[in-house]
Amino acid sequence: MLGKTHMATGLLASIVTLPMVDTVHLKVWFSQASRGNFVNLEIAALWIGLGVVGSILPDLDEFHSIGTRKVEAVVRTILLLFFLFLTEQHGRFNTLSLIVLIVGVLTLMGGEIARKISMLMLALGCIVLLIMDAKYGTNFLSGMVLLTVWSIITAFVAHRTFTHSLLGLLVLGAGLGMALTPLHLLLLTYAVVIGYIVHLLADAVSGGVPVFWPLRLGKHTRLGIRLVKSGSAMDHTVGLASLILTVVLAAGYFH
Ligand SMILES: [Zn+2]
Repeated sequence: MLGKTHMATGLLASIVTLPMVDTVHLKVWFSQASRGNFVNLEIAALWIGLGVVGSILPDLDEFHSIGTRKVEAVVRTILLLFFLFLTEQHGRFNTLSLIVLIVGVLTLMGGEIARKISMLMLALGCIVLLIMDAKYGTNFLSGMVLLTVWSIITAFVAHRTFTHSLLGLLVLGAGLGMALTPLHLLLLTYAVVIGYIVHLLADAVSGGVPVFWPLRLGKHTRLGIRLVKSGSAMDHTVGLASLILTVVLAAGYFH
């Protein structure tokens, strides 16, 4: 299924599940997290946005997916800023700033190399957060360790294996949940997990997903059917129908 279709179905799932969000609790954790006065619309926007993010996460195991390109762009920007900061601080190039520059340039190459570098940089980012925010306690630390593990495994496994399995969903969901609980942001995890599950369901009807990876079920590694061929008219129709339904439901909520 196309990345666009995944995003559209993720969007629809977020809109459908929006009324399930307990706005009272959301308001509590929002004020604790930011001390700002958020209105319902902003809470809804965050829920929906994270649902879409969750719906493209499983395809970070593929170099040409929408999510991978986004992660690469973010990693490249951070490396460039870090390079400028290091050069600025020392007044000249040094070994570390040159390494940062080389890694940044490598991500411009695209393909598997850029994807692997980006996933490993994501893992490094989790480790940095783990060290910097150790004050949030053991739950936060275990959560960041799980997110690091998820990123490293995703860097090296084949497409539609780990990230498209229950194990992958569990590691990511538990990692996010544990890391976000001490920050009073646990509810954000549910939005991401809903998007993630919808991605797996969508892939299950377009060729199947290895639900029990790394275990095999007899001859078959993937469970599912091939109702929708990636890039086909059906694929586009599912995406468009999801968008239309989203607009209809959103109009109902926010009229
Ligand atoms: Zn997928």
